[in-house]
Amino acid sequence: MLAVLGASLGSFFNVLIDRLPRKASIIKPPSSCSDCGYRIPVWLNIPIFSYIFIKGRCSKCGATIHWHHLVVEIITPLLFIALFYKYGLTSILFYKYLVLISFLIPIFFIDALKQLILHVTSIPLIFVGLIFALLPGTDVPIANALATAAFIFCFLLLLAWSFGKIRKKDGLGGGDIWLLTGISTFFGYTGIPLILIFACVFAIAYYIVFIRQKERPFVFGPFIVSATVIWIFLSEFILNKWLG
Ligand SMILES: [Zn+2]
Repeated sequence: MLAVLGASLGSFFNVLIDRLPRKASIIKPPSSCSDCGYRIPVWLNIPIFSYIFIKGRCSKCGATIHWHHLVVEIITPLLFIALFYKYGLTSILFYKYLVLISFLIPIFFIDALKQLILHVTSIPLIFVGLIFALLPGTDVPIANALATAAFIFCFLLLLAWSFGKIRKKDGLGGGDIWLLTGISTFFGYTGIPLILIFACVFAIAYYIVFIRQKERPFVFGPFIVSATVIWIFLSEFILNKWLG
C-alpha cells in the first residue's frame, strides 16, 4: 500500500515540479505533454510503468519526458517504505517525516532544475513542523522547535546580510533561509547544526568535483534536502555510534 501511495504521490510531485515554477495550475489540465499538450490517457498514466513503456517520450509528438518523472516515482515509495521500517505505522514520527519528505522531494527537484526554492513549498514547512511539535509522542517539543527556528532564521539572515555587505553579491538565497528555518522546526537544536554541516560538506564536495569555477553560482537546496533525508534515517547512528 505504501508503494502504491508513494508512486501515486510521486506522480503528483512531478506535476508540482513541472508546473509550480511556471505558475501553472496544478489541477488543470490533467496529465499532458508539456510540449504538444497531448492529454495522456489513463492507461498511460500509471506511475513508473508508463514511463518505461513509452520509453520516456510523448507517444504523440516524441518529445522527451524529463527523467525526474521516473526518478521521483521510484524514490518516493522507497523513502516511504524505509520510513515504515524505521518507525512503523503507530509512531507519530512516521507521519511527521512522511510529510516532511513530501515537501522535500519537490523542493529538491525544483531547485536542482530551475534554481528556485518557492515560498509556497518552504514557508508552510515552518507551520507543519510546529504543529507536529505540539502533538503527543513527538521527538522535538514545541519550545525547542520555536526557539531553534527563530535562532536559525536570525542567524542565516545575518550571515546572508554580512556576506552581501562584504562580497557585494548574494551568497545565501532567501529560499535557503526559509527552507532551513522550516527544517529546524522538525529537528530542533540537536539536529539542525549537523544537518547544516552535512549540507555544507556535500555542497563543497560537489563544488570541488563538478564546478571548480569561482564565479559560477550553484544551488544549495538539493544539498540541504540530501543532508536532511540522511539525518531522518541515520541520526541515532551518527549521534550514538559515530559521535559517541
Ligand atoms: Zn507531446
